[in-house]
Amino acid sequence: MAGIHIHEGPEFGIGDFVLLEEVSLNKFMENLHLRFEKGRFYTYIGEVVVSVNPYRPLNIYGQDYVEQYQGREIYERPPHIFAIADAAYKVMKRKSRDTCIVISGESGAGKTEASKIIMRYIAAITGVSGQKEVNRVKDVLIKSNAILEAFGNAKTNRNDNSSRFGKYMDINFDFKGDPIGGHINNYLLEKSRVVYQQKGERNFHSFYQLLSGAAEEKLAELKLKRDPTLYHYTRQGDSHKVSSINDRNDYRSVQDAMKATGFSYKDAETLWKIVGAVIHLGEVKYHTEDDQVVVENPDQLTTIAKLLAIDRDMLEKALCFRVVAAAGEVMEKGHTAAEAVYARDAFAKAMYDHMFTWIVGRINEAIEVKRDVVQHGRNTVIGVLDIYGFEIFDNNSFEQFCINYCNEKLQQLFIELVLKQEQDEYMREGIEWQHVEYFNNEVICHLVEKPHKGIMAILDEACLNVGKVTDVMFLHAMDQKLSDHKHYTSRRLEPADKTLEHDRDFRVKHYAGDVMYSVIGFIDKNKDMLFQDFKRLLYGSENAMIKSMWPEGAKGVTEVNKRPITAGTNFKNSIIALVENLASKEPHYVRCIKPNEEKSPVLFNETRVRHQVLYLGLLENVRVRRAGFAYRMSYVKFLERYKCISSSTWPTFRRGAEKQGVDIILNERGFGQDVQYGKTKIFIKSPQTVFALEEARAAR
Ligand code: ATP
Ligand code: MG
Repeated sequence: MAGIHIHEGPEFGIGDFVLLEEVSLNKFMENLHLRFEKGRFYTYIGEVVVSVNPYRPLNIYGQDYVEQYQGREIYERPPHIFAIADAAYKVMKRKSRDTCIVISGESGAGKTEASKIIMRYIAAITGVSGQKEVNRVKDVLIKSNAILEAFGNAKTNRNDNSSRFGKYMDINFDFKGDPIGGHINNYLLEKSRVVYQQKGERNFHSFYQLLSGAAEEKLAELKLKRDPTLYHYTRQGDSHKVSSINDRNDYRSVQDAMKATGFSYKDAETLWKIVGAVIHLGEVKYHTEDDQVVVENPDQLTTIAKLLAIDRDMLEKALCFRVVAAAGEVMEKGHTAAEAVYARDAFAKAMYDHMFTWIVGRINEAIEVKRDVVQHGRNTVIGVLDIYGFEIFDNNSFEQFCINYCNEKLQQLFIELVLKQEQDEYMREGIEWQHVEYFNNEVICHLVEKPHKGIMAILDEACLNVGKVTDVMFLHAMDQKLSDHKHYTSRRLEPADKTLEHDRDFRVKHYAGDVMYSVIGFIDKNKDMLFQDFKRLLYGSENAMIKSMWPEGAKGVTEVNKRPITAGTNFKNSIIALVENLASKEPHYVRCIKPNEEKSPVLFNETRVRHQVLYLGLLENVRVRRAGFAYRMSYVKFLERYKCISSSTWPTFRRGAEKQGVDIILNERGFGQDVQYGKTKIFIKSPQTVFALEEARAAR
């Protein structure tokens, strides 16, 4: 920060955007670009880290760097993500407060890498006495990443290792500041990928890892061949080979990680059997005989039933019929051909999704804080959030809608917390607060989540209606209820708007930009319907682990819940809970930026970066942070740093009279007019004063 000239030299630009001479988009971009070219990928906005994806390995995360940042103050060293991790750790340890680190940015911006760097840093600075249990917890925390990425990440057109789920992880610490456990919450896995991948994309890594990595005998046992192009569920994207990925090695790492995390050999076997069963399910084909759908390749069923330890005939029945309870009577109803394919895919998706949830649960068991440890004193946490960034695709559906809603909520939290923190500090210090204009996106959150009138509520209502409600009818309901909303529009409401190509589109004006959603599939995805028969089928598995993934299958045919909670409402509730949780902690932010679409270490795409800077609200962040003052520091720290530039304060000054010492230095240098004195901190208005002080210090 202020020390930037000493550590990096002015040719590397400014290490803290708050110290920009002029707060404008152009100046911001200039500095970011310059730093990128000079290989400086981290820059602060006060205590927020802006991180640009370097798209090349950097040697700045080793033990030597850990030592440079450990226990230091943010301004003492050049900007680094370690400094924010250390700041969060210090607050947690010194003040005994729960803290969190929120990592945001679009797909491929470097969120997951950042979260892993933070976790490794925390592991490196803790548990120095080498306690066995602390080491085990650290090991599981770090190794669990490989497992979660195998089953929850995929190659997309934006990122070869894209997280297709949201992740919030708490790390618990004991009174000594050593990790003693943790907990992971996962959010909305993009399970549609199990059955469909766009051109250029892949299914989840696990599928390819299994096919490339498993031993011959094992594949034979699963009745699989190595080649992913043989299977419908693994070949649709037409891109199973990814140059940056070695599926074979990854398979081995995942196996090792599972072992270290306490998965038994049998647990791992079952997981791979489920993956195998899903692949086979994708090969199930139907035709119609006498108006009845039948499975064309019954051998597949035998294989799947064996892998899942379920009854073959019941599987066949579940794929071709459904059981309906009407007026107390239980009847079987044959599927149409389309329904049968739908049922098959829904089954595959649900099976994978439940497996993923099980995996997270299993990891949580391994890192659960032991009761006897908690009793020995306090227990504080650092939470790390790595969640999908804002998404605008050519075709946006229900998933993008949920993800973008989540980003609205996080943005709102950011605005509230940053503003609130600033305001609180000015109040505490008795400094006059200058109001800063900013866009409050609360209105967009309301558009989505308001009871009765919000999009989620309208969607739920459409889903609850008996009889056939189509996606288009849902769209019409929105048009009616939201016609006055400034952030919502559609073709019907704005017939002249040529960008709304289709009758089935609606557009939301998000804080990050306009997104057009196609309404097709909203109802289906929100209902997230899986025929009851499948649940009962898997609950009936002789494999206890599979059975445990499907507790809802215990219900009888007639006790079926008529109003199951919808996928949208479920997601909404989990995000609201997440935001409440984050708001209760002291937040730290990492804002990730993707420099280009080509994964290149040298390209800096001005247009794309500018867009991200704008929608992440970084400029507003600088303005708020500056609100009249470019810089602040406690009197004690200020004196420590600058006492050497005045003979009145060097080498020591009266303890307890730091404020006076600071006053002497500032007046000697003629900066008295450029500052305000708070209760414990000095507030400096212009960056030039800070630079001048730094130069004076360097000249000593
Ligand atoms: P998504 O939202 O799709 O999950 P993400 O923001 O999590 O995206 P990452 O997977 O963290 O993105 O990063 C994408 C790729 O960028 C990484 O696989 C890696 O190649 C590169 N990368 C990101 N951060 C760094 C870093 N600090 N050093 C080196 N390479 C990096
Ligand atoms: Mg990620």
